[in-house]
Amino acid sequence: MKPSIRYTGQEHGMIQRTTHRGVHPFESVPRESWYDWRWQLQHRISTAAQLFEYFDIPESDHEEYRQAMDTWRCAITPYYLSLIDRSDDRDPLRCQCVPQLEEWTQREVGSDDPLCEERDMPVTNLIHRYHDRCLTMVTDACAVYCRHCNRKRRWCDGEPAPSRDGFQQMIEYVGRTPEVREVIISGGDPLMLKLDTLEWFIKSLRVIRHVEIIRIGSRVPVVLPMRITSGLCRMLRKYRPLWFMTQFNHSNEITDEAARACEMLLQAGIPVMNQSVLLKGVNDTAAAMRELLYGLERIAVKPYYLFQCEPVRGVEHFRVDVARGVELMEQLRGTMSGLCMPNYVYDLPGGRGKMPLHPCGLYPDAAQEFDNKRQID
Ligand code: SF4
Repeated sequence: MKPSIRYTGQEHGMIQRTTHRGVHPFESVPRESWYDWRWQLQHRISTAAQLFEYFDIPESDHEEYRQAMDTWRCAITPYYLSLIDRSDDRDPLRCQCVPQLEEWTQREVGSDDPLCEERDMPVTNLIHRYHDRCLTMVTDACAVYCRHCNRKRRWCDGEPAPSRDGFQQMIEYVGRTPEVREVIISGGDPLMLKLDTLEWFIKSLRVIRHVEIIRIGSRVPVVLPMRITSGLCRMLRKYRPLWFMTQFNHSNEITDEAARACEMLLQAGIPVMNQSVLLKGVNDTAAAMRELLYGLERIAVKPYYLFQCEPVRGVEHFRVDVARGVELMEQLRGTMSGLCMPNYVYDLPGGRGKMPLHPCGLYPDAAQEFDNKRQID
């Protein structure tokens, strides 16, 4: 695990200039500010001018960058920025939060909503596709906007505060739909909500008798781990069984701070699972994936899914062929403990559900052999 910042002058309570990844741009930030999630949100890098200040982007590309950022917003917390080697334009964390030229030049490729989420909404912002569970999108705001996000289409309206009426409609839908035993609270990032709003929403779901399980999907442990506070954990633990799904995509994201955030959730009795996305240039080699999965196992976060990257507009440059993904999983399988292995799946375009991607699924001969063995057994 890597600390994001090395403190060499703590007697002054200031962040020092050097980190394990070079000179730190927030050189004189008091320690208490750095670990204040509100300070982190207020000081996000979000304009093209800031981006050009922090990253060496050729001037000839500035216009394309501006257009990309006008189309799909950008925000990077100082914490996440501190993990990036800014001298390396292929840094795996930089690729996830800083637009690349291809995001704009290949903008016509793909679809805004390949999973047809907007189609399967019986009420606004609630997706009910699978019989026993539904997903609620309680905000469009995120701490960091991931360039590979499959909900990029929803970023265009800024970060408006969600309305109580909207929440109420979702709660009422769940209440009158008895087959829903599990509700996923998603976004955007639900941990961008005010604590009392989030608690009110969770509590309203918890009192519905047929809702057995609540899941929260949030990337906060990865991009803003200081948001996992003892107050938040105290609140969440009241509403168990509650599962926490996060998204680490590279081992450089597994810092002491991120580990601490996950540990706090675990200590509160909340299992933490990881859903990575297979991303070209980030985690599409066996070495990178192995390091990520071992790192997750070390911090007691279960690798749950590895998603095939969706054909989303502005995301094409991240997509890896399915055959390559299967080959990658093959390289890992057999050399790593089953505890580390995620399910590699493709959430099929058109909202047709998740298809597992593994050799038996792709090669009929292997599946046939498996069936023959079962008959013999
Ligand atoms: S945190 Fe999740 S919803 Fe937000 S931009 Fe990243 S992937 Fe998309």
